[in-house]
Amino acid sequence: MTEPTDAAARRAVTPVICYPNDSLPAPDMALYDAARATLTKVDEVVVAPRDAGVFSVPEGHFFRITSVEGSQVGDLNLWHADDLNERFYSGKTRALHGTHITRGDRMWSSFPHLRPLATITHDSLAWYGIDAFGGAVHDVIGTRCDPYTHRLLAGDMYHHCCHSNLTRALAEHLNVSTDEAEPFVHDVLNVFMCTGFTRDTGQYFMKASPVRPGDYIEFFAETNLLGALSACPGGDCSTVHSSDKAACHPLLVEVFAPKAAALEGWSPSKRNSYDRSHGA
Ligand SMILES: [Zn+2]
Repeated sequence: MTEPTDAAARRAVTPVICYPNDSLPAPDMALYDAARATLTKVDEVVVAPRDAGVFSVPEGHFFRITSVEGSQVGDLNLWHADDLNERFYSGKTRALHGTHITRGDRMWSSFPHLRPLATITHDSLAWYGIDAFGGAVHDVIGTRCDPYTHRLLAGDMYHHCCHSNLTRALAEHLNVSTDEAEPFVHDVLNVFMCTGFTRDTGQYFMKASPVRPGDYIEFFAETNLLGALSACPGGDCSTVHSSDKAACHPLLVEVFAPKAAALEGWSPSKRNSYDRSHGA
């Protein structure tokens, strides 16, 4: 195909940020840091490899996902515990914070709520930054490994993709069928996963996660939360996923309560104040 004569000039146009986020209400990290110093552990869930676990976090509590035993990626779903129709909105979180999220970034909820479900308060992999391939950690670009895409690409049935693990775990927690639970499963935060897009073809890539046992990412619950975490069948996602080939390890989820006095001045996040008239 021939290019227009001004092709170089068109390509040379400087990009602008779609959603400048300097007007986003900033989380009070000093308050969270002070609260972190008062934590008492109140619950824990060990997520088995190629499986998922469900956990609850009351508003104003913290939860931490820790790598144990070996390098392992996790797929995280979050819901407002009082209404599972309000769930983590990966796409809008990406638009607001970028392709990968870290301390100070928030996990936003679906319309019409669009409020912070959780704020990241610690990330032991924050040092990683963006590598020479354009890769970074904790992505909101991947969706979740799932048996439908696998069926399309590989042809066989595989039942321990993150989508299925999350579906089974949620069904068991809610005491409903997997058919009923499946529509609540949504695009994830890929915890510890190192990903990016190739410069030449724009394709989604993964590479071995830099996470090591002891590394953790920690969140502050801005509302009452229900969470589900899958220990991805891809393990550290260095080679393959959606199969039993990769070495897989458990993940630890811990829930912590701060001293109540440490949260003075904080209140749960409020639903978005758009009037929902849509100009009608
Ligand atoms: Zn997965």
